[in-house]
Amino acid sequence: MGEKIISRTGGAIPVGGLREHLHVGPTMFTGDAAGLTHPITGAGIPSAVISGERAGQAAVSYLKQGKEDAFADYEEDIRDQFEVSLERAVARRKWMAQQWNTPAAQEDAMHRKGWIAFQDYFVA
Ligand SMILES: Cc1cc2nc3c(=O)[nH]c(=O)nc-3n(C[C@H](O)[C@H](O)[C@H](O)COP(=O)(O)OP(=O)(O)OC[C@H]3O[C@@H](n4cnc5c(N)ncnc54)[C@H](O)[C@@H]3O)c2cc1C
Repeated sequence: MGEKIISRTGGAIPVGGLREHLHVGPTMFTGDAAGLTHPITGAGIPSAVISGERAGQAAVSYLKQGKEDAFADYEEDIRDQFEVSLERAVARRKWMAQQWNTPAAQEDAMHRKGWIAFQDYFVA
């Protein structure tokens, strides 16, 4: 009794997968800006923290040691860590969108293929 909603908040979650380039010259893209949010779960905090830390290391490496390929190394490391799982998730999301308004959407098999907690999610 007496409680009232004082504000509402929300936002779009980018679900398109990794950007084509994760750095342009010395500008590095991290977190949502890199397209690192998982298109199935919507989780983007861990990958934002990991990529942000790695980008910081690359910046230090360039500024303190003059390492010219520090930014390319950043991109390679992030792709190594996230690209395979993000590509799977982007593809699975597109597949699920095609099934959304069909009888298949009611089937357990589709649910198992559509959520990361199930082994079927990892089967092509
Ligand atoms: C409704 C919702 C629920 C979510 N739930 C979860 C969850 O449960 N678990 C999870 O892991 N992820 C969740 N996410 C995703 C997660 O919030 C993001 O993936 C994560 O916050 C991305 O971090 P980021 O640092 O890349 O970007 P952000 O957190 O968006 O940080 C970007 C910052 O840059 C600032 N900024 C923008 N433009 C400028 C500018 N020109 N100059 C200066 N500053 C600027 C913004 O104000 C913002 O503070 C959710 C997202 C939404 C929208």
